[in-house]
Amino acid sequence: MKLENYVCGKWIEGEGEGVPLVDPVTGEEVARASSEGLDLAAALGYARDTGGAALRAMTYGERGEMLKKAAEVLGGQRDAYRDIARRNVGDTRRDARVDVDGGIGTLKYIGALGSKLGAARHLVEPARDRLGRDERFQAGHLWCAIPGAAVHINAFNFPAWGLWEKAAVALLSGVPVVVKPATPTAWLARRMVKDVIDAGVLPAGALSIVCGGARDLVDHTQGGDAIAFTGSAQTAHALRTHPKVVGSGVRLNVEADSLNACLLGPDARAGSPEFDLFVAEIVREMTVKAGQKCTAIRRVLVPAELLDAVSEALQARLAEVVTGDPADETVTMGPLVNKAQQAAAWEGIAQLESEAQVVHGGEREFEPVGADPARGCFVPPTLLRCERPAQGRLVHEVEVFGPVSTLMPYASPEEAFAFAARGGGSLVASVFTGDDDFAREAAVRLGPTHGRVLVMDASVAEANTGHGIVMPQCVHGGPGRAGGGEELGGLRGLRLYHQRTAVQASTARLDALGADAAELTL
Ligand code: NAP
Repeated sequence: MKLENYVCGKWIEGEGEGVPLVDPVTGEEVARASSEGLDLAAALGYARDTGGAALRAMTYGERGEMLKKAAEVLGGQRDAYRDIARRNVGDTRRDARVDVDGGIGTLKYIGALGSKLGAARHLVEPARDRLGRDERFQAGHLWCAIPGAAVHINAFNFPAWGLWEKAAVALLSGVPVVVKPATPTAWLARRMVKDVIDAGVLPAGALSIVCGGARDLVDHTQGGDAIAFTGSAQTAHALRTHPKVVGSGVRLNVEADSLNACLLGPDARAGSPEFDLFVAEIVREMTVKAGQKCTAIRRVLVPAELLDAVSEALQARLAEVVTGDPADETVTMGPLVNKAQQAAAWEGIAQLESEAQVVHGGEREFEPVGADPARGCFVPPTLLRCERPAQGRLVHEVEVFGPVSTLMPYASPEEAFAFAARGGGSLVASVFTGDDDFAREAAVRLGPTHGRVLVMDASVAEANTGHGIVMPQCVHGGPGRAGGGEELGGLRGLRLYHQRTAVQASTARLDALGADAAELTL
């Protein structure tokens, strides 16, 4: 099966043999993808002219309804999507829920935000500023959708969620989307786009998909377009320095890699509620999606006197993890997505081993349940222990994109915050503590180098949505190494797709601007 591309309102098969997509359990080919021969300049032009015009003619409320209808269409096909996620991504049922249901849920949530904006066609900030003595002449600030297309370049690990978390926000803004899923897992994204297109819930040109390489897609972007990218620092660098971004004013939002930390507070004791919650969270983060989450916990920071207790508790819990073919119901963790990712994970573990010792997992020779280890892309859950993290460098810099975390002791809260910051800017940190003062201090101290901070204690254990789960209400992104981008965050996410304009006019004219606008500051 060769995945067709959807551009210029048509399904088009790419030329040539295409790139094989494989089942990471068996190594067998499941599909091929090719974007060769596509006219990507025309694809972007069609999105801007046809899709953009149609979307801009709608109100936020109408676009919100459109997203809710798309979510309904997708909701009817969950089983088919979970099946593809298992066969092409190696997802267990739990993993597929995070990706598929997470994507549909996010689409619904953003749709509901659109309904709240109702019949508005643009946004105005509620506050006005006087410009001089005459108070009849003031400044207001207006937000209008950018005139171009949104180009979404996604990573391989979340083919469903990555697609919809970005597309929902752009479409609600009134900006047409050209999505380029990562080639190794493009099958699920392409199937979901096909279902929504076939259902006819989007206007022509609102959503296009390019399966296979990006080729010259970015070369054909222009001022007024926005690129939202998720993936490696290396590709991010290529995009940041692309002439269209540097010289033509194409907007770029980057979500890159991250060495997220999880801190156990100095007040914790072995067996205390926060201690147990902490251990459960780390095991969950290491094993969901086999650790292939940009938000997964890579560094586990604990008070020095609890290092042994945490290590033993984690080892005991990790010993219960069953790694193998997700089709087997006893399996709780699947493979990495392909052989290249498996090789990269082993290489990363070897690097970490120069500064830390493996205390659980780490064996290349192991028998995954129901699968041939030579053909499958498995890595066992692997915990390392670094006794001297202050002297370490690689433990703070090497992101192993798999079920791998490094445990490290800290001597004081000051040192814990300093270690967390050595990630160079991360997507998320979490703190498990029963101490109110430490909790407040941690949020403020971790804030400058993190996009999100989860502060957990026993009172909210049941309500906890998880360290690694990106909620559409919260901003997603992080400073520095994490890319410096920002997505989602409720209506805050609309910012990338809107232009803010200061309007200086009489108060009567500023009042008139509010007639078909919603009051909002992005
Ligand atoms: P990648 O190699 O950078 O690929 C990401 C996407 O960029 C793919 O769609 C890829 O297409 C495309 N791409 C590659 N070169 C390109 C170019 N020159 N121009 C335009 N597009 C290009 O990253 P990856 O290895 O797949 O992803 C893993 C990384 O992503 C990890 O480091 C992880 O931390 C990070 N990540 C971050 C987040 C977040 O939200 N912050 C989420 C998930 C993953 P092809 O597949 O066709 O090459």
